[in-house]
Amino acid sequence: MITMKDIIREGHPTLTKRAVDVRLPLSNKDKNTLKEMRQFLINSQTPKIAEAYELRPGVGLAAPQIDISKRMLAIYTEDEKFEKLHDYLMVNPRIVSHTEAQTYMPGGEGCLSIDREVEGLVPRHKRVTVKTYLYDTVRDVLEEHTLKLKGFIAIVFQHELDHLNGVLFTERVKATLEGVEPLQFKTIEKESPKEE
Ligand SMILES: [Zn+2]
Repeated sequence: MITMKDIIREGHPTLTKRAVDVRLPLSNKDKNTLKEMRQFLINSQTPKIAEAYELRPGVGLAAPQIDISKRMLAIYTEDEKFEKLHDYLMVNPRIVSHTEAQTYMPGGEGCLSIDREVEGLVPRHKRVTVKTYLYDTVRDVLEEHTLKLKGFIAIVFQHELDHLNGVLFTERVKATLEGVEPLQFKTIEKESPKEE
């Protein structure tokens, strides 16, 4: 089980390295890593488990964050309207197109690999089209998909993709973003987890 002690922090060289493509077909080891990454996100969002193991809530995790420098990432979260669960294990993802229009998390971004509060806003593409292999843990298959992501899920994806390229969000923060609309969450009562 992945816990916070497995997650490397700012200053670790793996976090600034470009991760390598995952070799296909997926090895059993890579499959297990992906399953563990997904389970970490679920555990971190399950209050009793998160409390028992002192897990910070996360909606995304990239393999380099557990010191595995390969192009794999996990996303497990609802969208900003709390309508749909996005549950992805991505292998070798890439952006094939994106909008010029940008958006940002109104409260800034957080990261499981960064232990301090970072002030500032992170510009992200509003929509991205992503070509990726998705690993389905139930059927134990890897299939290529094209995903059209927008809003919160697009932001989470771009944060995780940055990890595969050795980039932390702290490199992208701006004090203000002129003419860019922040992402709107449907409810203000329900606070969304934003650690990635
Ligand atoms: Zn992060």
